[in-house]
Amino acid sequence: NAPFRPFGTALSTHCRTRFISTMVHAANLGYPRIGANRELKKLIEGYWAGKVSASQLESGAHALRVANWRAQAAAGIDVIPSNDFAYYDQVLDLAATFDVVPDLYRTAIADPLDRYFAMGRGHQDKAKGIDVPAMEMKKWFDTNYHYIVPRFAPTTKFVLAAADQDVKPIREFLEAQAAGIHTRPVLLGPVSFLLLGRAEKGAPADFSPLELLDRLLPVYQSLLTRLLAAGATEIQLDEPALVLDLPPTVVPTALTRAYAALTNGPKITVTTYFGGIEHHLSTIAKLPIHALHIDLIRAPEQLAAVVNAVRPTRLHLSLGLVDGRNVWRTDLTRAIDTVTFAMTALGADRVLIAPSCSLLHAPVNLAPEFAKTAPLAALPDVREWLAFADEKLREVALVAKYAAAKARGETIAADVAKALAENQTAIAARRASPRLHNATVHERVANLKDADFVRAVPFAQRYAAQQAHLHLPAFPTTTVGSFPQTKEVRSIRAQLKKGAITEAQYWAFVNAETEKCVRFQEEVGLDVLVHGEFERNDMVEYFGENLDGYAFTANAWVQSYGTRCVKPPIIFGDVARPKPMTVDMITRAQDFTKKPLKGMLTGPITMLQWSFVRDDQPRRDTAYQLALAIRDEVVDLEKAGIRVIQIDEPAIREGLPLRRGDWAGYLDWAVMSFRLATSGVRSETQIHSHMCYSDFADIFDAIAKLDVDVLSVEAAKSDLKLLAAFAAKDAYPNCLGPGLYDIHSPRVPSVAELRDRAGDFLARLPAARLWINPDCGLKTRGWTEVRAALSNLVAIARELRAAH
Ligand code: GLN
Ligand code: ZN
Repeated sequence: NAPFRPFGTALSTHCRTRFISTMVHAANLGYPRIGANRELKKLIEGYWAGKVSASQLESGAHALRVANWRAQAAAGIDVIPSNDFAYYDQVLDLAATFDVVPDLYRTAIADPLDRYFAMGRGHQDKAKGIDVPAMEMKKWFDTNYHYIVPRFAPTTKFVLAAADQDVKPIREFLEAQAAGIHTRPVLLGPVSFLLLGRAEKGAPADFSPLELLDRLLPVYQSLLTRLLAAGATEIQLDEPALVLDLPPTVVPTALTRAYAALTNGPKITVTTYFGGIEHHLSTIAKLPIHALHIDLIRAPEQLAAVVNAVRPTRLHLSLGLVDGRNVWRTDLTRAIDTVTFAMTALGADRVLIAPSCSLLHAPVNLAPEFAKTAPLAALPDVREWLAFADEKLREVALVAKYAAAKARGETIAADVAKALAENQTAIAARRASPRLHNATVHERVANLKDADFVRAVPFAQRYAAQQAHLHLPAFPTTTVGSFPQTKEVRSIRAQLKKGAITEAQYWAFVNAETEKCVRFQEEVGLDVLVHGEFERNDMVEYFGENLDGYAFTANAWVQSYGTRCVKPPIIFGDVARPKPMTVDMITRAQDFTKKPLKGMLTGPITMLQWSFVRDDQPRRDTAYQLALAIRDEVVDLEKAGIRVIQIDEPAIREGLPLRRGDWAGYLDWAVMSFRLATSGVRSETQIHSHMCYSDFADIFDAIAKLDVDVLSVEAAKSDLKLLAAFAAKDAYPNCLGPGLYDIHSPRVPSVAELRDRAGDFLARLPAARLWINPDCGLKTRGWTEVRAALSNLVAIARELRAAH
């Protein structure tokens, strides 16, 4: 008889309780793949640059995976995932595993690895005559992670490679086995896989990828069977789509059919996250699966309903109790209460403890933040409130140990009790910390009046008052804010950070660059100028660094897409503005010119979306505090003589809740926050805003309610869909500057192209309210292209003026 080894060789050695049935398992759903020092980014970018060979890439990635599995085992996790790793994206991986590759890539590139990267990021090789674009990238639910959208057609076939070594989920499972770790492989589930995809161009209009379900299921089943044969005892199928509103064709029909077809493999855990599943519960609880995972951070209110629904079944329940998407320590006594509730209803051996979702969205670990030079060294108490992926896994393991001991009626082990006590000390310290509170901010929020959210007079009157000062021509021209952040600009900033140059030297450089930029805009003939944003590394970080209530990290990177990682700042306390943030810079730039210079700020919702936010108050409250800080800056700019101020809100659309029923509530406070930030000025002061990165058509009404005087929106790539929405109602009541050309490409748009584009705009929008500007900021471009493109843009505006 083989020994009973539920968790494989590596773990069974310290799994002393393995013969006792009252076991509460600690599970993980996914581990950050980028490496503690972004090793994966460096490897992959090295490979792209031809400096790292395919085999070096593979062995480097192998070492990372093994290190990641060991880190999870060391944290005390029993159920460790594999196949959560990806070179580029896990959805792209699954598409590649099933050979869902659009013909374009199949014919252009033979090597599977290069083809995979080409699908993710496009590939140009003039010598070989290869020029394929990247596949579409989309936000992964409401996170800042982006996945590659699989493309399906009625002719799509799903094929699994014959050799196990060529099937990534199997290969990585075996690789973990070889390293002594028995894993639970992760795959995106069949329903979510199809729902997240889109129809290939040219597919019949009524084709929906879900029609492929019956063709897909046998291939899934065969993958599961082969995983079982390879030794996998359990499998995790992610079905995050189940938190969405779905038509009955999906739930119950497709979901039920899918899981009825997948019964001959390892034991299945279906995971749901980023929301609750009560609306689909009666179907989900009946699925012939082993376990169900729910997100109790985003949707704690679903617990009782889910426990009730699974109680009469044999389903195990995985409780997502540790926030996989934020950076705060978990209040473990509260988590234990939840576990106790579930254990009482279901019995201890039907309960698992886990993070709410994959830790892909969390930084790797806190260790680098303890370095003497780390920014958090100045806020050691705040650092005590934080938990990144490794620390979160220790929390999961701790709760599981505690619950298991309780279930067996044992006394709590000393190390567990000690860790719990430490946790409670940190939680209490955070709760009681004076750093959280700023009485002035509270008082201001409490005393807000309706009038604080509205400009004094309606747009038409305001615009007339603004014209009296600004004297702008018809079809005014402007840009979105940033100008080329050249190598030189970035290296000077890096030198300042290293202490290689003084603050005075840095600012002298920034000033000179700003002056050049202002002169350049005058030469090109733009009407409303900008300072160029040379002093800003990032549109959120720059302001965060100047606000109270914000903390920064040395190394808290998370993957955004491909090899791109972001390091969001942390909002830990009430946000307040101790002193003006941009007034010096902007007024200095205004001194270089008689033309109006546009002050440039980031809006409250974008600040909120691109930071790790506090979890001890509603997002709305934090947004209002941010709004007040920005409002103060707007008022100070006005006082300093700045007559045009732009408050960027590119992230307003991405904050939308996943379910439509929740949209109105969010949009209401998002709009109010923005208006709070912008309504402190006189009618003569012109407020601009800018939005990009998404399709705004479906939140048109909310955008109109922002009541900005001039709105610039990304439009060059959107096939005029957006403008159709704006024009259909002839509704956009204020001035609009749809992007005249795409700034993401180094191509210089010709005058003829711009003329066509302007013609498209004029056919849809009233001429008197049309502004002329590029799609977005110019920071990723070079000066030569920018000069040529903006000269063409100004030429078009002059043509329009002559013709109208
Ligand atoms: N003002 C910013 C810039 O021009 C806007 C950036 C953005 O929209 N993402 O860079
Ligand atoms: Zn933009």
